[in-house]
Amino acid sequence: MEHFFSEQQKEIKKLARTIAEEKILPVRAELDEKEEFPREIMKVLGDTDMFRVFIPEEYEGLGGGCLDLCLVVEELSRICCGIAVSYAAVALGVIPVIVYGSEELKRKYLPDVASGKKLAAFAVTEPTAGSDVTAIKTTARPENDGYVLNGTKQFITNGGEAELYTVIALTNPKKGIRGASAFVVEKDTPGFSFGRKEKKLGIRASATRELVFEDCLVPEENIIGKEGMGFIVTMNLFDNSRPGIGAQAVGLAQGALEASVAYARERIQFGHPIFSLQAVQHMLADMATHVEAARALVYAAARTVDSGAKDVGGESAMAKVFASDVAMKVTTDAIQIFGGLGYMRDYPVEKMFRDAKITQIYEGTNQVLRNAIAFELRKKKRMWD
Ligand SMILES: Cc1cc2nc3c(=O)[nH]c(=O)nc-3n(C[C@H](O)[C@H](O)[C@H](O)COP(=O)(O)OP(=O)(O)OC[C@H]3O[C@@H](n4cnc5c(N)ncnc54)[C@H](O)[C@@H]3O)c2cc1C
Repeated sequence: MEHFFSEQQKEIKKLARTIAEEKILPVRAELDEKEEFPREIMKVLGDTDMFRVFIPEEYEGLGGGCLDLCLVVEELSRICCGIAVSYAAVALGVIPVIVYGSEELKRKYLPDVASGKKLAAFAVTEPTAGSDVTAIKTTARPENDGYVLNGTKQFITNGGEAELYTVIALTNPKKGIRGASAFVVEKDTPGFSFGRKEKKLGIRASATRELVFEDCLVPEENIIGKEGMGFIVTMNLFDNSRPGIGAQAVGLAQGALEASVAYARERIQFGHPIFSLQAVQHMLADMATHVEAARALVYAAARTVDSGAKDVGGESAMAKVFASDVAMKVTTDAIQIFGGLGYMRDYPVEKMFRDAKITQIYEGTNQVLRNAIAFELRKKKRMWD
């Protein structure tokens, strides 16, 4: 599908592949085993301008869109999804600032993110508010010179590692989620601390942590957009970012497919490589077909986002749902092709299988997103115009 890309997109993709193969491949198993945040790799990504990809040119970025970001995420995920999500979560943290932030806020924060000096994160989830984000309880009480935050966020990617956090909190609890607002909170703000660091099934190089706010005063100018826009900011963000989860899934599935083809060529049983068995050939053929279909859908959704179209929620959700289901199926089949060795940590498909599961869960579970897709279908008077 490369012939659709601009020269810049081709270069970005190629560079991301080189970084993944030269810098990430040698350390991925160790970081996964030790559940260690990839600080050195984040520095490499900063030094090679990878964080500039999703930042507008006016703020020292390369001005790339959703597709550019997807290309990087896909290439990194092909080698390690835990590292890819640590990178992608930075984009998640700053897209609200790019889309809704004041000029002052953009100038204050975006250049440091573009250079890789500061990492970012996005926080909406709470212990009692997962799929139902309308149930958030964290408050941001307006005071003379800003807002005082109280509450706990759960499962936040890059928690404890990022310098900047986009946090959704209620400025007017009486209005429920319509009274929510979005803020940028800096790591060293008094009253902001980090709680439990999660021990995970997969993407173990990524940090997933609680954020705790206790009378944490955030300056007035750090509000993103206006009071009451927190829910809109969140929904717009996910509509724009879900193709990126699809890209994680495509990259993972591609990695598992390549490993499976290589292994099937080498593994001899009954005197021949197992690739000569039709049962194995058909599994590989289905895996390859599904990966290509998922990739096509993810790129199409990313292009729709980049076109500036208003109604991208349905397509974006479809790309995430389909690609993540493909990643789970393809990584499961990869283990089957490796047989007993696929179950062992010495081979990469075991990690890919563990990493794939989260793509069906975060940024809207696949059940919740199927609800959203069905909602879009019900709204349409005529279909497929
Ligand atoms: C590793 C990891 C990283 C994460 N990173 C972030 C982050 O950076 N920032 C952030 O804010 N959040 C983050 N999350 C939170 C993530 O988005 C939520 O876990 C996810 O939205 C699901 O919420 P939940 O875990 O509370 O599950 P629940 O909402 O409790 O869902 C439990 C089950 O019920 C089903 N269910 C719930 N409601 C419905 C419904 N209406 N229809 C059908 N089925 C339904 C779900 O599909 C699921 O199977 C992360 C989570 C994980 C595990």
